Amino acid sequence: MKKTKKYQLMKRAVCMWCREQPALFGSTALYALLNAVIPYITLWFTAQILNELAGTRQRGLLIQKIVALLAAESVLLLLKAAALRWNHTLSDGFCMKLYEWKRHFDKLLSMDFCDMENPQTHELLNAVQQTSHWSSFGMRMVYYQFQNFLEAVFQLIGGIALSVSLFRLPVRQEAGWLVMLNHPVCIVLVALLLAGVTALSPYLETISTKCWIECDAECTLGNRFFSFLYNLMSEPKRALDVRLYRQDIFFDQITSIQDSYGTKSKAARYARGKAGAACAASVAVSKIFIGLIYLFVCIKAWGGAFGIGSVTQYVGAITALSGGLAKILEIVGEAGINAFYLEREFSFMDIPNQMYQGSLTVEKRADQHYEVEFRNVSFRYPNAENFALKNISMKFKVGQRLAVVGQNGSGKTTFIKLLCRLYDPTEGQILLNGIDIRKYDYREYMRVFSVVFQDFHLLAFSVGQNIAARESYDRERAQSCCQKAGVWQRVASMASGMDTVLYKDLSEKGVEVSGGEAQKLAIARALYRDSAFLILDEPTAALDPLSEYEIYARLSEIVEDKTAVYISHRLSSCRFCDEILVFHKGCMVQQGSHERLLAQKDGKYRELWNAQAQYYVAEH
Ligand code: ADP
Repeated sequence: MKKTKKYQLMKRAVCMWCREQPALFGSTALYALLNAVIPYITLWFTAQILNELAGTRQRGLLIQKIVALLAAESVLLLLKAAALRWNHTLSDGFCMKLYEWKRHFDKLLSMDFCDMENPQTHELLNAVQQTSHWSSFGMRMVYYQFQNFLEAVFQLIGGIALSVSLFRLPVRQEAGWLVMLNHPVCIVLVALLLAGVTALSPYLETISTKCWIECDAECTLGNRFFSFLYNLMSEPKRALDVRLYRQDIFFDQITSIQDSYGTKSKAARYARGKAGAACAASVAVSKIFIGLIYLFVCIKAWGGAFGIGSVTQYVGAITALSGGLAKILEIVGEAGINAFYLEREFSFMDIPNQMYQGSLTVEKRADQHYEVEFRNVSFRYPNAENFALKNISMKFKVGQRLAVVGQNGSGKTTFIKLLCRLYDPTEGQILLNGIDIRKYDYREYMRVFSVVFQDFHLLAFSVGQNIAARESYDRERAQSCCQKAGVWQRVASMASGMDTVLYKDLSEKGVEVSGGEAQKLAIARALYRDSAFLILDEPTAALDPLSEYEIYARLSEIVEDKTAVYISHRLSSCRFCDEILVFHKGCMVQQGSHERLLAQKDGKYRELWNAQAQYYVAEH
């Protein structure tokens, strides 16, 4: 990858971080500054005090310097502790995960539904997250690098300021052969030697990091494997299967084969070999470096270039300076490696968005009079060979009860998904009040529909919060929706009524509800949204016959002036509707009222009705 590209990726990542978390970056910069500056202040004052002790020893001056050191240290250390605390509350591992989660979650939520459903999208996201958890490479690494870079720069500036005089102050002429240390060539040689040794340590570190990164794929797989097993074993719903079939034995066998972290793994081999050696050499080199500095500084002090107190200042300053330089070189090495991971993460963030381009506001009509028309609509799922819907043309009359019936796989749910703009038609147009729905603002358009899908999910929060999908909500409205959906009696009988938490995921007092009750709660949730269209996908599938009857008996009360669309393969449920659409193999083969459709002798509706008649002869 070209250097400019690497630089652009880095720049984009830093800008993204600053935009998303400005306080985090502010606190990091403040802490880095204090962290780098304080040691120099200490060094400088200590050198002054030691020089005074080794020199004239004026009591007043000594006390003055000690007090100044203590005061400066106290104030700065307090400031540093405050900055660290501020920074920690914003940057601990949990927060970092939260930022990452939010960034990815927002993207998933805003991308086109077909991309969200695409397994490749999830594979990509999975790889990004696994790498981030395993080695912090990707966006997270940029934050750590920014922190280290700032510290390194401050360290460098302070180090240079405090160590320039080390090279400038000459050894006394009477120091014999040591005067050669005053020669410019000698000074340049020493500086080069120090710079060379400084560069060696990060170079070795980068070798070790590269090895670590090479284990990424294997360890990512390991992480995925073990989290999968953990979830499998700990999920109560699967406990019966695990016990009955003794799947734990099977898991043990598989675990012994999976060796991402074991002694024979790539990571372990690297730790014993190349990576371990590079890491050890890097530490050894940095120690040798300190030895060299001591040697040089002490020889100069011995030659009378400066007092004994300055020895600590120069050793400290040069060590810090070299540390800063090494850190910058290490960051450069890491940034090269990280470019690949950043590019991968951005390829997820940059998945294009086709569906959000509309800008028209959806007219808010108090009379709820919206009209929807399908005009020659055909649809094929991405990567699918066959059309799931073929040439559908129809109009909804406002306030109607519309039923969509057909056998499984006939395209009923797809029809609803298109209506809700989870996908755009492959051919044809869908119009709302005469305007192509693609022209509307996507979120506003979605507000027109409330859907209870067959595979709805309630959350492990309170009943009221589930119904309102908000933390705080209108209790009266939520209660009225529960009443309409026929679940209020059950909610009222719960220990804390509307505040009762569902399921036990987050609370021991959580209440389990039956499939039918959950479905009624989902209907209440759809009613609370108060959209013009209420769509129920197999609304009574999980209900017992009595509850089913109850729902249909109060259908008009539930739906009020809304346009209702029912999807069902149970034809008895749909007789109540004004208009029935019959789907078969992706085509709309019939349309009309129950009586009209039943009268058509060779029609699909009649065929389906007769096939199901045995279950509801009595009703008919
Ligand atoms: P129904 O709701 O009537 O049972 P669907 O609308 O769910 O039928 O499915 C219609 C057709 O589209 C079926 O052949 C089904 O296999 C296919 N299909 C449904 N969802 C997808 C998908 N996400 N990707 C590819 N094909 C799908």
